[in-house]
Amino acid sequence: MLSLSQFQEIIRQTYDTKDRRRGVEGTFMWFMEEVGELATALRSGTAQERAEEFADVLAWLATMANVVHVDLEAAVQAKYGTGCPGCGQIPCNCPPKEKP
Ligand SMILES: [Zn+2]
Repeated sequence: MLSLSQFQEIIRQTYDTKDRRRGVEGTFMWFMEEVGELATALRSGTAQERAEEFADVLAWLATMANVVHVDLEAAVQAKYGTGCPGCGQIPCNCPPKEKP
């Protein structure tokens, strides 16, 4: 089992040099390209293709977090670790028009 923190560290060790060279704008473009591929996989891909595209999107998200020095696990824990950031509940009890 891989924690979000361990995953981000693997991505850092694997790609950090390339990521620094590419910078935040270039990295964001790749991230958006992967999001597009996920959209295609969701629409017409196999279960295997969908799983791979989710992995790619998460990898590029972790890369971007590395480039701008965000600790993903800490950020997720702080914002969603106790439930909905809006109402503080699990499951979310916010009015539908605020967050469908
Ligand atoms: Zn809520």
